[in-house]
Amino acid sequence: MSYATRYDHFIGGRYVAPAGGQYFADITPVTGRPFTEIARGTAADVDRAVDAAWAAFPEWSKTSPAERALLLTRIADRMEANLELLAVAETWDNGKPVRETLAADIPLAIDHFRYFAGAIRAQEGGISEIDHDTIAYHFHEPLGVVGQIIPWNFPILMATWKLAPALAAGNCVVLKPAEQTPASIHVWLDLVRDLLPDGVLNIVNGFGFEAGAPLASHPRIRKVAFTGETTTGRLIMQYASENLIPVTLELGGKSPNIFFEDVAAAKDSFYDKALEGFSFFALNQGEVCTCPSRALVQRSIYDGFVADGLERVKRIRQGDPLDVSTMIGAQASNDQLEKILSYMDIGRQEGAKLLTGGERADLGGDLAGGYYVQPTVFEGNNSMRIFQEEIFGPVLALTSFTDFDDAISTANDTLYGLGAGVWSRDGSRLYRAGRAIEAGRVWSNTYHQYPAHAAFGGYKQSGIGRENHRMMLDHYQQTKNLLVSYADGPMGFF
Ligand code: NAD
Repeated sequence: MSYATRYDHFIGGRYVAPAGGQYFADITPVTGRPFTEIARGTAADVDRAVDAAWAAFPEWSKTSPAERALLLTRIADRMEANLELLAVAETWDNGKPVRETLAADIPLAIDHFRYFAGAIRAQEGGISEIDHDTIAYHFHEPLGVVGQIIPWNFPILMATWKLAPALAAGNCVVLKPAEQTPASIHVWLDLVRDLLPDGVLNIVNGFGFEAGAPLASHPRIRKVAFTGETTTGRLIMQYASENLIPVTLELGGKSPNIFFEDVAAAKDSFYDKALEGFSFFALNQGEVCTCPSRALVQRSIYDGFVADGLERVKRIRQGDPLDVSTMIGAQASNDQLEKILSYMDIGRQEGAKLLTGGERADLGGDLAGGYYVQPTVFEGNNSMRIFQEEIFGPVLALTSFTDFDDAISTANDTLYGLGAGVWSRDGSRLYRAGRAIEAGRVWSNTYHQYPAHAAFGGYKQSGIGRENHRMMLDHYQQTKNLLVSYADGPMGFF
């Protein structure tokens, strides 16, 4: 993988050394070894980036939706022409299997740019007739300079979810990647930066408290968009309240995946699909905010369905993330690996029954130092910590339910409300469950699909606001109303 040996900040259209002169190592989870070093940002770097973004804003905000759409389309085209390069870069930085980055992460990011290129062109202002001689015009105007802070689980895709709508709407951006996976975004940037006017997109690298907090609390940003942990989300909201600016927060989850008894009515391809759905907790090593980390299986089919589900889990191929046949790769960081192993201990201590996995996976050779964990299933009850706390690893907490009401009350017995899955052959049961579950996204007879044009976001402590879908533009625009009288005479009050 051809990474540079060092990445600086990207500010005002060029690479800039960190004001504090410090760098930190980026480690690949594939082998556990450092492969490049990254500028360690501070408040002074954030300041420079915000200045550069405001300097670019007057001109950028006057570009037409058609011009911005063309630019986003060109970014998408560049990405498509370099799909393999980006997929491998993402796998090397994050540890996820290249079969996913090739088939999902990067193609989804490409489509996201194309979708918002279309959405901004289709957006229209409004004209209202106030009375015969008075007209109200409505315009969508960008907010200005926005701050965006992203996590490490889908580095390029999360950057895209933030950047595409913000740029389409005419904002300038200062983005901070996660300190665990800062490098692949720079590979992306090197491919597209000549397309962007200087200062429209700025990237400040660094750690949460050193670079993220100065960005989220900066008095000259007009909005902060954040994806990450719920505890960090609370801090982001506090910073934003000081400046009275809007926030969008995409936070944690503990998503239920409900299997009703009729899935086992026949051992056909639908049953097979449901078994794949049962195994989806291990997709992306479980490092997905919507990871279906709680499986709820109806009592009447529990033993047989779980036995077949476990067989499927045991067939998930773990190995070198750069091998296209590998299904589960490495956890993104050593901290994450240790967190997952500690939750396995918690599960054992609180009396959950280990059905499969439960250990770090030693893949030997070059991969021996990598951060690999076996797909793991614990059986227990919904009051246990492994059912209530986000583990963010390939660890499934499994329990049973008796009837529809029991399933829904167990599903909703969580602080979170991001995703959920429901599996049944009965359309009306799917609909009733979908409406009853307190979550922003309920998949029915499918899971882990993230199209650009379906709204995504959390209920309860999983977040505020939505991402994807053209409604996202509302989070990056404000409405200007011009109210104009075409009458010749006075209003008659004075
Ligand atoms: P995190 O909150 O620790 O870090 C996320 C980002 O915030 C990083 O860039 C980090 O540097 C920055 N940050 C940390 N402290 C900060 C502070 N005080 N001020 C400003 N920035 C700060 O989360 P993480 O561990 O990187 O990511 C995993 C979490 O993200 C999981 O809990 C997961 O559920 C969540 N997530 C949610 C979604 C979603 O769409 N809802 C998507 C992906 C991940």
